[in-house]
Amino acid sequence: MDHFQYQNRQLYCEDTPVAELAAQYGTPLYIYSQAALLEKLREIQAAFAAAEPIICYSVKANGNLSICRLMAQHGAGFDVTSKGEFQRALRAGGRTSPIVFAGVGKTDDEIEFALTNNVFLFDVESEQELHAIGAVAQRLGVKAPVALRVNPDLPPKTHVKTDTSVKGVKFGLDIETIVDVAQSVVGHPGIALVGLHMHLGSPILKVEPYRLGAEKGVTLIRQFRAQGHDIRYLNMGGGFGINYRNDEAPPARAFAEVILPAVRETGCQLILEPGRFIVGNAAILLTRVLYTKSTGGKHYIIQDGAMNDLIRPTLYGSFHRVWPVQPPENVPVEPDVNGDPDDPQPFRDMPHCFKQDVVGPVCESGDFLAKDRPLPAMKRGDLLAVFSAGAYGMAMASNYNSRLRAAEVLVTGRTHRLIRRRETFADLVACEDDCLN
Ligand SMILES: *Cc1c(COP(=O)(O)O)cnc(C)c1O
Repeated sequence: MDHFQYQNRQLYCEDTPVAELAAQYGTPLYIYSQAALLEKLREIQAAFAAAEPIICYSVKANGNLSICRLMAQHGAGFDVTSKGEFQRALRAGGRTSPIVFAGVGKTDDEIEFALTNNVFLFDVESEQELHAIGAVAQRLGVKAPVALRVNPDLPPKTHVKTDTSVKGVKFGLDIETIVDVAQSVVGHPGIALVGLHMHLGSPILKVEPYRLGAEKGVTLIRQFRAQGHDIRYLNMGGGFGINYRNDEAPPARAFAEVILPAVRETGCQLILEPGRFIVGNAAILLTRVLYTKSTGGKHYIIQDGAMNDLIRPTLYGSFHRVWPVQPPENVPVEPDVNGDPDDPQPFRDMPHCFKQDVVGPVCESGDFLAKDRPLPAMKRGDLLAVFSAGAYGMAMASNYNSRLRAAEVLVTGRTHRLIRRRETFADLVACEDDCLN
């Protein structure tokens, strides 16, 4: 994480010591680097530049309005999965940024909202949804722009909970029957079938699934066109993996190498929906140690970040690097992490460290951020950085245990500003207070 580095054994975000941010804003605290956000957006824009792609930032990875606005200001549109995300995209980007709308369960209300707010494309995930969109569009006297989302039926490629292109998941239309579905809307007065969509899963650390998916896409687009559909968009979704450990993820240009030939072959406009790739490594979760204890032969660091702040470790068994903000003199300034995600032993030699679990205050045994990590002895009040926390971190945060959701800060160089204030007790009970009798 280039924009989070140690200088004189102190962790900085860009040119700002993160300890200073803890003092000013409190903990737990999400800290974002603006340079990191823009660098990753530019990396993907540059890698695919030959196709002049429409990059639709995936709002569900991190919907913070200031982050979404930054994306819009630097040329991105949005990928949304609900009316709420659609409204965030509008708030951040106005009506000028293209918005694509995916998700298996769009309601009539959401469809109407999208149609009256200039939706760029619906990514359609079932035959019933397709006809529901057609009916709402006809009622409004418009034609809905639609891409059919295919489940390309690829081999497993990521965690079972985040693989969206294997047989037996709820996403998309079966590759065996999607051509029949397309046939059923030839000449439909409320539907313009103009694209093909796929989103393979996330995070994907190999380029091969994209090559296979894109090849299947080329064939389908040929078939849709033969039916008379004017197919102009190939939407390859998101899912591009990132370095949670070391250097396990391919760069954007490696993905481009396998996707661009298919785009060329179809003559389509390429759409991409990266979320994690842009925001994942642009943030840390900063927490403060409350207590340490040893029990049942294990050592625990109890700190003020919890599963309600970052649920990925307990939800998906995800790996986040965790390291002190001010490592003691006798330990390496950064952990030496093995980049092979299939290797159960992520660390090499760690002098003056011992295996500890990093856990939070929530009353669940599943409330942990890291397990069996070689870490130095920590004291009350020490700060810990949980790395790679930008995607599906704050976006999945909850108020479980009536914990107030964390604040978020955006850093640029030596300056910083709040982009979400810490919640208060009044926020916590706002929806209940008026109902109390
Ligand atoms: C979640 C999602 C994305 C973004 O996935 P990332 O792994 O964050 O890039 C893109 N498209 C669709 C349809 C999604 O559901």
